[in-house]
Amino acid sequence: MPYIILGLITVLTFSYFTSTDSKLNTNILPATTLEGTISNSHTTGLATETENEIIRILLVPGHDKKSVGGQYLNLTEEKINLTLSKELMQLFKNDTEFDIVVTRDENGYSDFLNTYIDDNKLSIESFYKEKQEAIEQLVERGLFEWPDGPHHASASSEMVLRLYGINKWANENDVDIILNLHFNDDPERRSHHDRGKYEGFAIYVPNTQYDNSIASKSLANKIFEKLHTYYPISNLPQEKSGIVESHKLIAIGSYNTLNIPSVVIEYGYLYEPQFDNEITREASIQHLALQTYLGVHEFFENYNVESANRQKERKVFDELLREDNNLVYGLRTNKSVFTLQALLAYLGQYPPQEYTKRQCVLDGDFGKCTESAIKEFQKEYSLVIDGSVGSETKVKLREALSENN
Ligand SMILES: [Zn+2]
Repeated sequence: MPYIILGLITVLTFSYFTSTDSKLNTNILPATTLEGTISNSHTTGLATETENEIIRILLVPGHDKKSVGGQYLNLTEEKINLTLSKELMQLFKNDTEFDIVVTRDENGYSDFLNTYIDDNKLSIESFYKEKQEAIEQLVERGLFEWPDGPHHASASSEMVLRLYGINKWANENDVDIILNLHFNDDPERRSHHDRGKYEGFAIYVPNTQYDNSIASKSLANKIFEKLHTYYPISNLPQEKSGIVESHKLIAIGSYNTLNIPSVVIEYGYLYEPQFDNEITREASIQHLALQTYLGVHEFFENYNVESANRQKERKVFDELLREDNNLVYGLRTNKSVFTLQALLAYLGQYPPQEYTKRQCVLDGDFGKCTESAIKEFQKEYSLVIDGSVGSETKVKLREALSENN
């Protein structure tokens, strides 16, 4: 694990140059140290923290109504980011371990954030300018390597102030992790009506030289494992590793402006077929939110997470298997088919052999992919191989689910 060693070296470097407000230990032992960083002093009055163990998550649905991000037909990125954020809020809100704070909802930016940015414009500016200068000095002295890539879209000066404002606020308000929610776009796509040539997900993490690098990476790994059970990694060349380091993304703490783990999750490309219509989009977003939630949970590993998580994940599958319907070839944009595909992926049966995740997305369409996967399953369980899901196949799927520990 070379990055741990690298990280430790840079921890020492940074503790020398920028030791004033860094929670340096965050780098080494995420879960335990993070608990230790939570204090009871809240200046915002946002949440009442009674126990030390409550984990505070800052959700940042990317972009806003003014600068919507990508667009495909009528679907804008800011809107789909917000929908996902709402699903995640719901999951975390029902979980007393977590205190969840969101930067914006359908009414715009949250009041606490607007007030903070209005009241602190100058100190936010000097905050990030000082951090930038510190890094620039390190670069000059050969102590920080400034890499070439990856490429990112640039932000307006208003957005830059807001994003650094979010970082500063998070550093000051006992936030434990930051989740930045985004959907991707193909930069070469010609119009809102065309699909692009890329698909899949990617997670951005801070460059190894930054203070919050290691904890961010271990958070990213947990979410990655979950998402990758179901979705292909983005085939955009700069994202082919799935977890991508960046030294320039403000949201994950460019110029060492965050001492908290932070990840940018690009869940998929806006124009991917599973987001086309409202039915499969809803199923798909709920599924993406659940996987993220499960990954975050595992990152913190406080109690018997695994079995609790498994229950949560299986509830949806159990409901599907209780439904009194036949799922057959030709069904399109169907929520039950989407869940069936997710169940098959969970069991390791989807995509079927000879197919890739990229060829067989979770899209709610009962086509070749689903049919082949079901046929393989039926063969394995000595059922009549007809490629459709009736009551007998459901019984066997239920068996397979309970065997899968
Ligand atoms: Zn975005």
